[in-house]
Amino acid sequence: SKAKMFDRESNIKVNFDDVAGLEEAKQEVEEIVEFLKKPEKFTELGGKIPKGALLIGPPGTGKTLLAKAVAGEANVPFFSMSGSDFVEMFVGVGASRVRDLFRKAKEKAPCIIFIDEIDAIGRARGKNAGFSSNDERENTLNQLLTEMDGFASNSGVIILAATNRADILDRALMRAGRFDRQIHVELPDLNERIDIFKVHLRPLRLKEDVSPEFLAKQTPGFSGADIANVCNEAALIAARRNKKLVEKEDFIDAVDRIVGGLEKKNKIISRDE
Ligand code: ATP
Repeated sequence: SKAKMFDRESNIKVNFDDVAGLEEAKQEVEEIVEFLKKPEKFTELGGKIPKGALLIGPPGTGKTLLAKAVAGEANVPFFSMSGSDFVEMFVGVGASRVRDLFRKAKEKAPCIIFIDEIDAIGRARGKNAGFSSNDERENTLNQLLTEMDGFASNSGVIILAATNRADILDRALMRAGRFDRQIHVELPDLNERIDIFKVHLRPLRLKEDVSPEFLAKQTPGFSGADIANVCNEAALIAARRNKKLVEKEDFIDAVDRIVGGLEKKNKIISRDE
């Protein structure tokens, strides 16, 4: 369907301009854009186009955004699913969903299939065997492997998958002809945070006391998603204060609020562990 070609939430096409920083990762996926746009260029010389690449990195660093940008730049449809959709699923449903997804994608090729949180289905097999939920996860994973092996490398379907736990993935996923490329996406450094702030400040009406450099210095350890959050929160705070423009102090309060949220989240995580 047409809607799938676009960012689900906003219906706006994503391009490399929307992805700040991540220069190395962008360079690597640029090649995938070329594979999608001009497959003959590679196959004429006898090359095999890779079927899949794994995007590895912490939450909120732009893995989904980058995958959407690949589809946007190549101007091809974007099909997505999340590994976590397959947890707690009835027997057979996971495998048949994977089958459906690949069938639809092959009809629309060239295209991108994006699998978020692939670790939820792609954890190494054979552990805790015996629980039915786990068997279902294995069925889903096996179906994914079967589908990947079953289509030709020149079919025009490229699968991108994201994880922040590459260490627990089943090695079978990384075998040649499957996700044999790995692209690392890290938390942004100071300069990258400046660029991410520039992207997310773009739509806001700002007072001149707001500078991306200042904000980037206030936010070490923040992901791109956290930065997007800060910008939106600052706009909401300013609106609540009945301002016409978003000011530096609104951002400072937004950062405080996000830091508070992050600390709470970390506390919950460490209590669980
Ligand atoms: P998760 O692992 O939690 O799924 P992710 O790595 O897929 O996270 P995204 O969903 O791509 O992260 O990022 C969430 C949002 O954060 C994006 O839609 C975007 O608004 C913002 N963002 C993240 N990274 C960047 C970036 N490098 N440049 C611009 N915006 C970014």
